[in-house]
Amino acid sequence: MTATISSQDKARPHFDIAVIGAGVNGAGIARDAALRGLKTVVIEQNDVCSGTSAWSSRLIHGGLRYLEYAEIPLVYESLHERRTLRTIAPHLVQPLRINIPIYAGAKRPPWMIRLGMLSYDLLSLGKKMPGHEMLGAAAFIEQEPGVRKEGLRAAARYFDAQVTFAERLVLENLLAAAAAGADVRLYERVAAIDIANGLAGAIETTDTLTGDRRSLSASVIVNAAGPWVDEVLGVATADIPRLIGGTKGSHIIVGRFDGAPRDAFYIEAEADGRPFFVIPWNGLYLIGTTDIRYTGSPADARASREEMDYLISETNRVFPSAGLTVDDVHYTYAGIRPLPYQEKGPESAITRKHIIEVHSDVARNLVSIIGGKLTTYRHLAEQAVDRAGKILGRRLPECRTGDTPLPGGWGLEEARDALRQIPALSTEGVDRLLSIYGGRSREIADIALDGMPDALDERGRVLEAEVAFAIRHEFARTLADIVHRRLMIGLAADQGRLLYDRVADIAAGEAGWDEERRGDELEALRRYSDFLKPEAGQGLSAGV
Ligand SMILES: Cc1cc2nc3c(=O)[nH]c(=O)nc-3n(C[C@H](O)[C@H](O)[C@H](O)COP(=O)(O)OP(=O)(O)OC[C@H]3O[C@@H](n4cnc5c(N)ncnc54)[C@H](O)[C@@H]3O)c2cc1C
Repeated sequence: MTATISSQDKARPHFDIAVIGAGVNGAGIARDAALRGLKTVVIEQNDVCSGTSAWSSRLIHGGLRYLEYAEIPLVYESLHERRTLRTIAPHLVQPLRINIPIYAGAKRPPWMIRLGMLSYDLLSLGKKMPGHEMLGAAAFIEQEPGVRKEGLRAAARYFDAQVTFAERLVLENLLAAAAAGADVRLYERVAAIDIANGLAGAIETTDTLTGDRRSLSASVIVNAAGPWVDEVLGVATADIPRLIGGTKGSHIIVGRFDGAPRDAFYIEAEADGRPFFVIPWNGLYLIGTTDIRYTGSPADARASREEMDYLISETNRVFPSAGLTVDDVHYTYAGIRPLPYQEKGPESAITRKHIIEVHSDVARNLVSIIGGKLTTYRHLAEQAVDRAGKILGRRLPECRTGDTPLPGGWGLEEARDALRQIPALSTEGVDRLLSIYGGRSREIADIALDGMPDALDERGRVLEAEVAFAIRHEFARTLADIVHRRLMIGLAADQGRLLYDRVADIAAGEAGWDEERRGDELEALRRYSDFLKPEAGQGLSAGV
């Protein structure tokens, strides 16, 4: 049956598809829908990529671990998508070599790891990444001298990929959606969804910065609110049983330590046999994750002292000269995996496959997304838009997201040439801009050369023009948006704190903020950054 909703109220804009949530899944669905000609709106209560998508391990991976649970189609899909993302976003998605040290007494002996590796290679056939290698203990120690030697039996090495700035991947999907005509509404929370006669229609929203109320309607509504999926359904109806059973995963971020590895490590924890990662990332090390059932508000999730201790002691065990303590942790973050609700059983055994659920019993045009990974968002989006086409009763054009580069995914060499014209920008700065904005950094060069030529920092790595670009062309509304999800300086060891005042000055000039607003923005930014510090105690939800 097809949906026949149309706008009953002429003052209320009507869309073919409304996507709730601008995490990786919502932004991906909006891009796909807009590229296929659907009149699209995407509604996000906060900034783009301010939920789970930012708090992940940032791997674009086949999910070696899913082989243990025989999720072969998921591994195959992930490996396929890994290749696609390398093609459409070469500036953001980079190959990553990963080591698996195998110690005596480990839950997974060498033969099992080898079998996993062979299967991974087989499923990766034609995917352009080198195959795995098995190394004896001595050969491996030569490559990674900081690793614990006692009990080391062998090691496996393989390739996956990494998206250092997941925030930018999500943003670029949103920018592509907007370029294809989508209406992007950030800082607008879905507060009510009207359901009548088996169809969802009117959506009421609240502007979370001003408190203004707005309304719109859509023929298909896609609830891509990640760990908030049940909360969004709750504003529509009480008739849908719980869908999400979130588990919390935490990471710690530390600097280079004694014996730190050259490549990433995938390690079996001694305490509970769970695998976790130590990943060279953004000039630092990203260590995680944990997997703990969670029932609180996703916005309040933070790494507990126990989780930090667990990750630190397991890292120190494998890199004995590291001697890490909580004092070495620059900051932490925690996210809630939007996994399907399952009352019992181990967290790690909950399927990582995504589910696209049409709520036909309640409203046949209301769709929820459950699960999904950064890695597979593009394919999920394709499937979700195909489903939307069926609900609309329309034959949609073919999906183009797999072979259309993301906005920064082309023109990199021209952009490099343009950036080299900026005297204040160091060589390191040129590389930094390209790794964040890709080919779009050409537009930043234009702003710089048109009257904003200075760098923000002494090393000439960050340009003032980036702040203007974030506000003019990247939907940034707050200082935290600019620092943490546009310029990416918020992910540095000091969270970019030395630059906050200068960024605030430029943003105030650009956005027309008065002194009071500038001060409020700085305070909110510091509160945001503090929330990620291990010693901070306050929840974030009070501030956003
Ligand atoms: C610890 C951890 C590690 C992970 N590691 C990896 C990895 O290495 N590789 C990988 O591929 N995947 C990984 N994942 C999985 C992946 O990050 C997530 O599954 C994915 O990001 C979910 O994206 P999403 O868009 O569904 O949700 P989110 O990113 O949470 O987006 C949902 C959005 O909906 C918005 N929203 C909520 N309610 C409303 C409302 N009422 N109105 C408007 N907007 C609303 C939220 O503000 C939020 O921005 C990891 C996950 C975790 C937690």
